[in-house]
Amino acid sequence: MNNPHWLNKTRAIILFTLMLLTAFLIISWSSYEVARQSLNDEIEENTLPLTSDNVYSEIQQDLLKPIFISSLMAHDTFVRDWVLVDREEDPAAMIRYLGEIDRRFDTLFSFFASDKTRRYYDPKRVLETISEQADRDRWYFQIKAMGDDKAYVIDARPDPEDPSHLDIFVNHKVMDYQGNFIGITGIGISVQKVRALIEKYERRYNRAIYFIDKTGAVVLHGTTFKRPLQIRLQPGLSQLATSILTVPGGSYQYDDRGRKVLLNTRLIPEFDWYLMVEQSEHPLQRVLFRTLIKNLGIGIGVSALFLLLLWLTIGGYQRRLEYMATTDKLTGIMNRQAFEYRFQRLRGQNLDENGLLSMAIIDIDHFKHINDRYGHGAGDRVIQHIAHLIQATLRRSDSVCRWGGDEFLVLLKGCRGDEALARMETLARVIEQTEVSTDRAVIKVTVSCGVAEHRGMENLDALIDRADIVLYQAKQAGRNQAKMRD
Ligand code: GH3
Ligand code: MG
Repeated sequence: MNNPHWLNKTRAIILFTLMLLTAFLIISWSSYEVARQSLNDEIEENTLPLTSDNVYSEIQQDLLKPIFISSLMAHDTFVRDWVLVDREEDPAAMIRYLGEIDRRFDTLFSFFASDKTRRYYDPKRVLETISEQADRDRWYFQIKAMGDDKAYVIDARPDPEDPSHLDIFVNHKVMDYQGNFIGITGIGISVQKVRALIEKYERRYNRAIYFIDKTGAVVLHGTTFKRPLQIRLQPGLSQLATSILTVPGGSYQYDDRGRKVLLNTRLIPEFDWYLMVEQSEHPLQRVLFRTLIKNLGIGIGVSALFLLLLWLTIGGYQRRLEYMATTDKLTGIMNRQAFEYRFQRLRGQNLDENGLLSMAIIDIDHFKHINDRYGHGAGDRVIQHIAHLIQATLRRSDSVCRWGGDEFLVLLKGCRGDEALARMETLARVIEQTEVSTDRAVIKVTVSCGVAEHRGMENLDALIDRADIVLYQAKQAGRNQAKMRD
């Protein structure tokens, strides 16, 4: 009787669990996705461009100064007159001039390369002449060949004094008063200094910052940069290289081996380089993810609690309903419905096991009289008392039911008719000897019993009928006794 109910309850609870968890999952996940997306948009549209602006303006401040100084040198009449009028006869004057520039502007070093003599001057000495054949001097001829629209160019090349060392040079063409090319002047900036600058920004903004030239080669980066020095060789970024290098700037997203990277690019026209600002994971993203996990945890906890309460509540109601449906209200013993079910089960078992089963009808003698004399309430007390006595006297394996009014049915498992009769006789004696105390009186009561042994496929009605006939005989024979159907 319990199993189907239990199954229904379990199925209902599982269904609720699935519904609740799905709802929690969908709500938590979708709000996480919305927050994550808006954070991404925020990073892409505001945070990275803002970082780029800041870095750009700061780096401009740091790098524009050398451009101004080199422009100043290129237009200095001293430099031009020293070439055109003095014909470079006093190298010491140029060396002194360059030394003064360094001292005055705190630059790393300044230089002048003359087109006529192909000599290269720096603040300490005159270096050997520039040669068209030498690889290291190629920069000079490239700049010289450049159109007049571009007065200066910034490049990175080995330090002439220490070729293992890379420096950034701001090179400015020097023209005579008629606009003819007479040399190149400029100043060098230590790459280390610019790198330190980049690292300062990287730390401050917690983002990767580096520069690429128009070919996609990485020209400047911090020490944490551990990727190929060409964006076309970088996983994920390689596909974007062409579009990055054909526009002055933009926002991009790419996947670096499962890691999503947001990128902002910006062309810095002074250098013809792109400033690249990247962010792979924002600290807020971790907070969002933790919130998601927390929400899911709370969801699961609340669901579990809710389901536990539901389980207990349903269980409680179910037990109450079951009790109400199967129990006689007055006596608390089995009612008719439960007894019919019990009979079917016992009959089935008996058929399988070829066992014995007997039934007895117990009816209180002259009960109407008790009701009439002591009142209905006292009658009820008597019924309760008799029910209690039947249960107490019979075996646990015997099934007792209040069939209605003052009538009880008992199924005695494994009992032949005569055994059942003997038990009923004993019961009648026990009842005869007890008294029922009520508010108004102490009542003595007796019962009559009809016993019948169950036969083969016989149904309940037929069995009751047979037992009822002997009950009638017991009543006729003077009551307070048990009789059995032959
Ligand atoms: P008999 O010895 O022949 O059985 O006589 P009796 O008076 O007991 O007659 P019967 O069994 O036919 O009477 C049953 C009476 O029980 C009738 C009814 O008024 C009374 N009765 C039925 N249900 C209840 C109940 O729940 N409480 C009370 N107090 N009386 C009930
Ligand atoms: Mg009666």
